[in-house]
Amino acid sequence: MIYQAPLADIGFALRHGASLAGAIEQGLFGDLTLEDVDAVVAEAGRFASEVLAPLNRIGDTFGTPFKDGVVTTAPGWKEAYRDWRMGGWNAVTAPAEWGGQALPQIVNAACTEMWHAASVGFANGPMLTMAAIDALHAHGTEALKRTYLDKLVSGEWMGTMQLTEPQAGSDVGALRTRAERAADGSYRITGQKIFITYGEHDFTDNIIHFVLARLPDGPPGTRGISLFLVPKFLLKADGSLGARNDVRAHSVEHKLGIHGSPTCTMIFGDAGGATGFLIGEENAGMACMFTMMNRARLAVGLQGVGIAECATQRALAYARERRQGRVAGMKATEMSPIIAHLDVKRMLLSMRGMTQAARAICYATAMALDRSERGADKAARQAAYELASLLTPVAKAFSTDIANEVTSLGVQVHGGMGYIEETGAAQLFRDARIASIYEGTNGIQAIDLVTRKLPLAGGAAIKAHLGELRGIVEALNASNDPAFGWAPVRLGDAVESLSRATSWLLAQLDKDTDFALAGATPYLRLFGLATGGCLLAKEALAALRLGADSVGRAALARFFAENCAVQAGALERTVVEGAPGVIGADAALA
Ligand SMILES: Cc1cc2nc3c(=O)[nH]c(=O)nc-3n(C[C@H](O)[C@H](O)[C@H](O)COP(=O)(O)OP(=O)(O)OC[C@H]3O[C@@H](n4cnc5c(N)ncnc54)[C@H](O)[C@@H]3O)c2cc1C
Repeated sequence: MIYQAPLADIGFALRHGASLAGAIEQGLFGDLTLEDVDAVVAEAGRFASEVLAPLNRIGDTFGTPFKDGVVTTAPGWKEAYRDWRMGGWNAVTAPAEWGGQALPQIVNAACTEMWHAASVGFANGPMLTMAAIDALHAHGTEALKRTYLDKLVSGEWMGTMQLTEPQAGSDVGALRTRAERAADGSYRITGQKIFITYGEHDFTDNIIHFVLARLPDGPPGTRGISLFLVPKFLLKADGSLGARNDVRAHSVEHKLGIHGSPTCTMIFGDAGGATGFLIGEENAGMACMFTMMNRARLAVGLQGVGIAECATQRALAYARERRQGRVAGMKATEMSPIIAHLDVKRMLLSMRGMTQAARAICYATAMALDRSERGADKAARQAAYELASLLTPVAKAFSTDIANEVTSLGVQVHGGMGYIEETGAAQLFRDARIASIYEGTNGIQAIDLVTRKLPLAGGAAIKAHLGELRGIVEALNASNDPAFGWAPVRLGDAVESLSRATSWLLAQLDKDTDFALAGATPYLRLFGLATGGCLLAKEALAALRLGADSVGRAALARFFAENCAVQAGALERTVVEGAPGVIGADAALA
């Protein structure tokens, strides 16, 4: 077994962690039923486990050979993509008027997790196409939508997202790719982009690039950036493929992981400029790109959850098989499966707890996005939008950080075999590493959380979130169930640590931003642990109420609270007391 879609856990997290059951009862999603959701998720899981997962290792070893400007994907990948798009998986949340299924974001979140669990290298391309669909739908002209949107929604063509240049990574405002106005209303794009995921490939016969570029008279920095749609092939009047546009892949990177995903250097304007079409207003490209990036950030968080889930499944299977040593009480002639050793058990519990906590945070983010679009009234939609904005950097960074930790533990549980490629543990470890770097590094996510998201609505969003977490702690206390051990106390402490660290950071933003910046990453971790711990407790309480797998869920919630969320106190100290030791420590790096 390479990967088995964890349908029971996903279903439970959707229903009870993210309150999908309640949302459906409230009529948030029209006539959609839980049975509909289960059917979609089960079919997506089948495709992920049976079709994509077996191709993952092939992609890792084959890579993406590049010759004469052409990328060849691994054997079987092109066919898998064809089947994937024929299954309608590209269109889960896309608008019905453009051929989409208009299903909730939260349904797609579950699917996205499973695609990435099965193969990040494969799922990366479609992930960016979905983000491109959002940006075009939200900001494109009717003419552009009519020309490109249905083909992107159906997956007949794929999209790319092009920000990065050699001198412009985290600092997008430093980008130099130029856009000149042409007489026919289009633009001519010249410049170079690097690290472009699926910039060139053989899945589709056209590739639609979404490119950030600067107009000659645009103001400096991010205020002078515009977004352009640049097709690989220009279209004839009847919509069929016409001349090759002046854009090409120059090379493909050799990298640590996700070998199946082509990462390209792109050249625009060898012959005077690639034809591009403006999306949104001139110089307002960052706002359009944020539509794309927010979508992709949650998806990368789900990528982290998926990889972590897959690593946990493999480690558990191995730990049940592999026998070493003896635990107390065993006969001298016998050897214990390593899962019986408490240190191994701790690793496995950490893996499962972190994975499920991250899943709960990502699904809660997706639900907030759904409520921001479908909430009953304007105030409800606005509050949900603010919650989604607050949670998105946490969903991205916490989930991908834990993916690195969980996949590393996965290697550890396998012992020496984890370091050998055949077990697959090493590939997961390598594939996970990029997720905390792209779509805005996790350091940038933490800064976004502290400097932009905490002050949202005058602090109302974080206040409401803390209120939600306190409600869960109260319910946990009220349950008085010994199965939770110290969890009510530990989670209560974690939430109060989060609350105090938040107040401290908000105060620093008015005084000396450096103090807030220095503590941003430990704060995001604290946020993730407190939120993830409470959401696991919420799921466990629901399980107790329903009598459904309550023992396992309460045990996991307890483990997480007592062994992971308990770190919140130390993180609070790091945020509040550790900043001067960072700011004034240049001598230590001399
Ligand atoms: C495999 C792969 C696929 C990718 N796919 C795409 C893609 O499809 N499209 C695309 O546009 N890009 C893509 N990227 C680029 C990716 O988004 C960037 O690598 C990432 O944003 C970081 O930029 P950088 O590499 O220039 O690092 P830098 O910005 O140089 O950052 C280096 C370090 O400094 C930190 N840092 C930088 N600035 C600050 C600051 N202001 N405050 C605090 N810390 C800071 C960062 O957090 C990081 O730890 C991809 C990259 C890779 C490796």
